[in-house]
Formats: sequence, C-alpha cells, structure tokens
Amino acid sequence: MDFKLFEKLSSTPAPCGREELLRETILPLIKPLVDEVKTDALGNIIALKKGKGKFKLMLDAHIDEVSARVRYIEESGFLRFVTTGGIDARTLVAQRVKIQTKKHGILTGIIGSKPAHYLTSADLAKAASVEALFIDTGLDGKTAREVFAIGDPITLDRAPIEFGKDLFSAKAIDDRAGVYILLKVMENLPKEHDADIYFTFTTQEEFGLIGCQCAVFDIKPDVALAVDTTGALDTPGIPVQDYVLRLGQGIGISMVDRTTIANQGVVDHLVEICQKRKIPHQLRVASRGSNNGMIMQRHAGAVAECTLSVPVRYIHSNVEVANKNDVDAAVALVENFALECCPSRYTPEI
Ligand SMILES: [Zn+2]
Repeated sequence: MDFKLFEKLSSTPAPCGREELLRETILPLIKPLVDEVKTDALGNIIALKKGKGKFKLMLDAHIDEVSARVRYIEESGFLRFVTTGGIDARTLVAQRVKIQTKKHGILTGIIGSKPAHYLTSADLAKAASVEALFIDTGLDGKTAREVFAIGDPITLDRAPIEFGKDLFSAKAIDDRAGVYILLKVMENLPKEHDADIYFTFTTQEEFGLIGCQCAVFDIKPDVALAVDTTGALDTPGIPVQDYVLRLGQGIGISMVDRTTIANQGVVDHLVEICQKRKIPHQLRVASRGSNNGMIMQRHAGAVAECTLSVPVRYIHSNVEVANKNDVDAAVALVENFALECCPSRYTPEI
C-alpha cells in the first residue's frame, strides 16, 4: 500500500456537501489516466476509461466523510454544531476539528464539554450527545462572529499513522480507502478492456447515499461495484459469531446487508477470481449497514451489483483502523474483475 498517497487523501477534508478540496486533490491525479472526466452539480467526479464499448462497468467510491456544520455562534464565541453523517457523539468528546471558513482558510477548534467534576446526574444522561458539546476556537465572541459563519463545514482532525502489524489508523478511512483503491486500479489497468469503465467519486454518501443516485442515473451501467468500508467487529465485547468481518482476513465481498442482496453471479465471479489469483477475501452477510451499492443496483434500471467492503474497526470515528493487506487485496480484486467482468454471466437467461 502506498501510504503516502493514502495520507494525502485522508488528511484532505471532505465534509458532506462540501467535498471541493478532495475533488481538487483527485482531479489532477486521474486526468492523465482516463479518456474523459466531468463533474456534476452534486460535486461528483465521473471519469471514463474507454474500452471496446461492449458494456458499461461502474466502479464507485464516495469522497465525503462523516462531518458537521456550524449551527450557532454563542455570544462568547463558542460554536454549536450539527452532525452531517452518523457520528457517535461519545467519540467527539475532547477531539480536535478543522473548520472551513469562507475568508480565513481552515482553522482549528477543540470540542469541549462540561468537566466531569461538575456533571449533575441530569448532565450525565445527556453527556454523550452533540447538544452537550461545543467547539472552542480560542477566539472571543466578536472575532468568532467575524471569522465563522452559520453552515461552515467541520471535519475531524487526526493525522494518519501506521502501527502494529500492517495496520493503520486515520479519520475517514471510510471511504478514502475506496478512493485509494480506485486510483490504484486506474493506474494499473492495461489500455485494452471490453468494458467502458466509469470511475465515480461520489458525494454525500454519509448523508443518505445522495451523490451516487445522480451518477448512476447519468451512467446507466450494466455492472457495478461499490468500493467502500464496513465495520469490523473483531474486538472485545463482541461475540465471535457477530464479528462479520475481521481485519487482515482479506477484502469483504458483501452478499447481504440491511438493504441489499448482491447479484449472485457477480459474487460467484468475484470469489472465483480470488480463488484463481489467491486474493485474500471473506464473505460478508450482515444484518446492518447500507451503502452506494444499494443505489447502483436499482436506481437506473436493474444493474448487476456487488459491494466490496474493506473491514474497518471503530468506523465513523477519527481513529478508524484497517489493515494494509486488505486494501491491497481489494486493488487486485477490482482490477481483475474490471478485466474479466462478463454481464451475460449475471443475468438469467429467458
Ligand atoms: Zn462509506
């Protein structure tokens, strides 16, 4: 895994609905590698690598991350906020954030809360809620109101690290891992392939699978893979039968989650490629979770779809943890599938 590239992707803020900085990071990297690139009003990037035009394959990763917005500036200068995307408020206490301002660049804030010594039992009941938290920007009220505006986007602030055996921790591994995988696949693909391959870097997934709805409607693919992350539950306190995926055991091939049953032909083909090429993989059957795979499967006609899920511990926090080998396995699988993909295998015969 090219950790330098991943660091760059993870460190660039891309709050839901304001993904412009990451879009500007990705565009120059992909322009030399594809035949056409466009953006749309949702901020999606849609890049086409032309093949023999036999069918359309869509490979999607979302560029947004769980984030927040300024909703109120207190007289004293402290900021109140709402979250955009599912963040567990317990993980926000005592964290640093980055706030994107209109005129003053990106500024640092500290998420503060009432000290434990002063919590009443009524406070304790609300302690793990966003309402109990505020952002200290170190500025007085007058200055804060000049610098910040209602709606300014906020992202978690945490530098990526490598640790343990092949592990790394960062904010927004969900879904910068997917972005990284698509960039590597783009780099590695040969010139010739049957499929016209559409790489989509879509917005606002964490806010409700939004950007992808427009991208898939635009492309109308025959086959699609969502390349995303999912919670690995291989940690203390979880019964072993509920782990779903484990770190380091390979890329997850999602057969079933809360909203989607993947195309069985695509699942079988992905497993076949993994077995033939010795790519570590694990099957995911989960009662929770949803992602852009659901959107691609049914929002632009019937599409043969499957989601590939990089296992991530502590998902939607600023200390997400993943295994580099699982990411590398995903690159190999997506690359081979893009070359071998065969729509007639995935649709029942009349
Ligand atoms: Zn995701």
